[in-house]
Amino acid sequence: MKYMSTRGGIEPIPFSDAVMMGLATDGGLILPAEIPDVTRHIDAWKRMDYPDLAFEVMSRYIGNDISKSELRAIIDESYSTFSDKRVAPVIPLDGYYLMELFHGPTLAFKDIALQFLGNLFAHILDHRQENLNILGATSGDTGSAAIAGIRGKKRINIFILHPHRRVSPIQERQMTTVLDDNVFNIAIDGSFDDGQRIIKELFNDIGFKSKYRLGAVNSVNWARILAQIVYYFYGAFRVLAKTGKKRVNICVPSGNFGNIFAGYLARKMGAPIETLILATNENDILSRFFQTGVYGKDTVRETYSPSMDIQIASNFERYLFYYLGEDCERLRSTMIEFEKTGVITMKPGESAPVDTAIVAGSGSNAVTLETIKSCYDKSGYTLDPHTAVGVAVAKKIGAKELPTLCLATAHPAKFADTVKLASGFEAPSHEMIAGLEHLPTRCTLLPANTAEVRSFIRSQLGI
Ligand SMILES: *Cc1c(COP(=O)(O)O)cnc(C)c1O
Repeated sequence: MKYMSTRGGIEPIPFSDAVMMGLATDGGLILPAEIPDVTRHIDAWKRMDYPDLAFEVMSRYIGNDISKSELRAIIDESYSTFSDKRVAPVIPLDGYYLMELFHGPTLAFKDIALQFLGNLFAHILDHRQENLNILGATSGDTGSAAIAGIRGKKRINIFILHPHRRVSPIQERQMTTVLDDNVFNIAIDGSFDDGQRIIKELFNDIGFKSKYRLGAVNSVNWARILAQIVYYFYGAFRVLAKTGKKRVNICVPSGNFGNIFAGYLARKMGAPIETLILATNENDILSRFFQTGVYGKDTVRETYSPSMDIQIASNFERYLFYYLGEDCERLRSTMIEFEKTGVITMKPGESAPVDTAIVAGSGSNAVTLETIKSCYDKSGYTLDPHTAVGVAVAKKIGAKELPTLCLATAHPAKFADTVKLASGFEAPSHEMIAGLEHLPTRCTLLPANTAEVRSFIRSQLGI
């Protein structure tokens, strides 16, 4: 399988180059040259466990670039860190199904992709005898999942900036209690935006970037999408086995469009998914698009589901590429227009839905709290606030003829304050979070200044 850019400006490259490139060098996003049709394999795949299924799905996108036995080892290692051996267990709940994607080391769905990406980087770097320094800024969740994916790996260091005292105490400890030699936590005396600006300036310093071999683990890396495709098949198969139905609707709490885009590809490949239900919080740029065809920037609001507090969805360009008929030129001019004006409009035709595969809705802060409470009252199950947004939207707009599977993207113990506010009860605790309190921490506090961060990285790498 070869890879290309949505904007058409790179020569076809193999899988491992696509992983190392991250963002395409022409400013576009990387996609496979074709989406394999796996319809004829569905029957054989239905009863597979998670690692077997991951191997089948992923090997179709990797080809000969990584040997079968090496891919198998990477997958096994990546999912051996999960506390539930099913990896993504599916449970029935009050008329719908829930797929728990939070059994990885940091209790959020991002572990599914980042555990895989960490092992994949280590494998590729080992083959090439190269080193990599990952650099990123986080407002909370992505940082800890990235650190958990990279810690202890050879030939790779990770530097993560977070805004000092502006991430939750749990999020901070999930990062700073990791003491591996290759992990560097930097608390910036400033905001998340300061952190992002510093990272951007360091990546734009071409001399620094190449000398120190800087790389990213953000949600635009193709390997993250690839790892996420797997659980759409896995979840759909579990629900079909439990209900005897032929197809399922899947509801996805969304922010950067990375998670649901993997579902969109799974459906294109032939997964038995009827409709994807996109759920946003009050930051609703994505749900407005699927309701009206207008993709327009707004200001970011703080909500109870902070990992979905985004306005520009970094993976949306991948979706638009298919929406515009795989026309790189049209995609490129559309993105340039968006960068200039902050709004683009797609007209599917009179009264036609924007996309027959995706319906969308949003849930307010009040709805988030109500949903956590009513689910707890009815079934004794505690939803985290991100999952609650999805459940609320699925209940409001999901078709009833087919079963609905809601993706549970975080463990409720990570958002204990919101859960308590909603239900009046303490969130169920998790040993991983309870244990954090007593662990030693390591973190360097720096001013929100690019030169200071640059010299810190230099001094730590000793070159
Ligand atoms: C990142 C995240 C999301 C949003 O996923 P996207 O891929 O950005 O759409 C939802 N819930 C949780 C808990 C997350 O960490």
